Amino acid sequence: LSDRDGKIWIDGELVDWREAKIHVLTHTLHYGCGVFEGVRAYDTVDGPAVFRLQEHTERLFNSAKILRMKIPFTQDQVNEAHRTVVRENGLKSGYIRPLSWIGSEKLGVSPKGNTIHVMVAAWSWGAYLGDEGMARGIRVKTSSYTRHHVNITMTQAKAVSNYSNSILANMEALDDGYDEALLLDASGFVSEGAGENIFIVKKGVIYTPDLSAGALNGITRNTIMHIAADLGIEVVQKRITRDEVYIADEAFFTGTAAEVTPIRELDRVEIGTGSRGPVTEKVQKAFFDIVNGRNPKYAHWLTKV
Ligand code: PMP
Repeated sequence: LSDRDGKIWIDGELVDWREAKIHVLTHTLHYGCGVFEGVRAYDTVDGPAVFRLQEHTERLFNSAKILRMKIPFTQDQVNEAHRTVVRENGLKSGYIRPLSWIGSEKLGVSPKGNTIHVMVAAWSWGAYLGDEGMARGIRVKTSSYTRHHVNITMTQAKAVSNYSNSILANMEALDDGYDEALLLDASGFVSEGAGENIFIVKKGVIYTPDLSAGALNGITRNTIMHIAADLGIEVVQKRITRDEVYIADEAFFTGTAAEVTPIRELDRVEIGTGSRGPVTEKVQKAFFDIVNGRNPKYAHWLTKV
């Protein structure tokens, strides 16, 4: 990923892709205190547009606030950086990665005395869990790793350090022949995927864990709530057990990278008919209509680049 043509926005400047480097004594590299976002731009009839940009930028700034990092740019400047990198890299659609980190002036756990930096990069990235997964559903394993407790790392922050837990769970799942991991909270209730929120469907009602299970407050999760309301489907946020997922009619993951990915198995137990269910398919279609600019009701969620 580091060896390619293009431009990356760093601290207000556009830098050549291959020159976008940081020092090995960067504080965030050593102690993991940094915040980031995953954002997507979609090809629409009006050209490339960033989906729910302001909400992502707000979450980035909230994550920074939680970690007591003061981002030295305004939200408008960061929004503008997103538009710039999509444009400058000639992308019609793609994934956008903003990250804020602590600099290399000094080490030691206390970050005081270090500068705070921001970068925004964008590149082309298709279906995160594969095209086949989008159509047929993926196979998921309940992780042996527990999701963060809400008072260990801060679960409403999209913090760099939270992802070592995601990586462990994802690696374990992949090594065991699954496509993705499902993590349970410290009390054993369903929390979320390694990089996705989870929804289940039972008798026409959609359920998702409430955020006290330590799941990230996903922007796609929120989009699904709007879609369900439009489709006249009730969404209930509640504690969910892993066996409720086994006996659900349908299940799906959501996320900026994963979009809406059906889950066809959990721990080798087939969910429903073992393929993408009808509610999931409807939600998925409505999602792609919105992100690709085919639903005028949500035109305000798309920021042209
Ligand atoms: N949970 C985790 C752990 C994630 O990394 C993500 C992806 N950002 C999500 C949920 C989904 O969030 P969003 O829909 O805002 O991308």
